[in-house]
Amino acid sequence: MIAPSRLHLDGDALVANWKLLDRMSGAAACGAAVKADGYGLGAREVAKRLAAAGCRDFFVASWAEGLALADLGVAVSVLHGVRAEDPPGAPNVRPVLVSAAQVARWKPTGLVCDVMVDTGMNRLGVSAEEIAGGLLDGLAIETLLSHLVCADEDSPMNARQQAGFAALRGRTSAKRMSLANSAGIALGTDYAFDLTRPGIALYGGVQHPGHAGIRQVVTPEAQVLQRRRVRAGETVGYNATFTAPADIDVAILNIGYADGYLRCFSGRGLARAGDVVLPVLGRVSMDLVAIGVDAVPGLGEGDWVAMEYALPATSALSGLSQYELLTGLGKRFDRVWF
Ligand SMILES: *Cc1c(COP(=O)(O)O)cnc(C)c1O
Repeated sequence: MIAPSRLHLDGDALVANWKLLDRMSGAAACGAAVKADGYGLGAREVAKRLAAAGCRDFFVASWAEGLALADLGVAVSVLHGVRAEDPPGAPNVRPVLVSAAQVARWKPTGLVCDVMVDTGMNRLGVSAEEIAGGLLDGLAIETLLSHLVCADEDSPMNARQQAGFAALRGRTSAKRMSLANSAGIALGTDYAFDLTRPGIALYGGVQHPGHAGIRQVVTPEAQVLQRRRVRAGETVGYNATFTAPADIDVAILNIGYADGYLRCFSGRGLARAGDVVLPVLGRVSMDLVAIGVDAVPGLGEGDWVAMEYALPATSALSGLSQYELLTGLGKRFDRVWF
């Protein structure tokens, strides 16, 4: 059955974004972060498209997210590592060990792994001191990772983390080193090491002026449920926050905050019918949104409109981060690749 709302996903833009980030990564390989179900787009469909374009290294958060991609024939690294409850040794799936306890858990398997080293985030990772003390001796490490704290800002912390990470080259059995996320790639090839790990920029996020050229991938679209006339002086939606200044036509759309189109778009969001921009009127409801449609007399029940969703502008408008705008998109949307 076709849902009354869908995510219009631009597969060419996704691949073009990866190729741009791959070029920006210089001699380093370019991987892809596909955690949180590919930032809400659908991890399998994203990974298939990027693998076909040449991407070989994928990053997810949990073991379950990793197992879901194990049959794709690409390397999947699990950023949260391995818990006592996780089964070791899935083909193509390896942990990014993030603590001494995880290292102790993995060492007896003799299997290949990645390791996260903390260089300032104080979130996940072993310390440089633990590495100097021999914690990683005897591990078969494919990639040593660290993660930038302020890559989307011009902060002295970036160079400090880069230098701290570079000093670990040759100190472990790791074949490769990886530091940069999307914004880190834009800081220059000093930050690329051997492998980069973009996420948000693949999906249209712009976190740095160096990301000019990144294309929008995701556009939520909703079907019109009904068109109605609202008389001058009447109000639209919960709490009567919009009053019609004249007789107007309104279209009610099959999308709402339960889909991740949150209440911050009330009275401020925009939709598009072809090239015509249409305002969201009044409160966003759980399952419905009203837009003003006087500019499109032919628009009616069953027609589709696109919600304005360019990530940088929509983030500025809503106060939500570009990451939240994607990962909050709900399960009711059909995800349709074009
Ligand atoms: C999410 C994540 C990435 C990707 O970050 P973006 O900012 O989306 O490019 C890279 N590395 C790690 C460790 C992450 O958690």
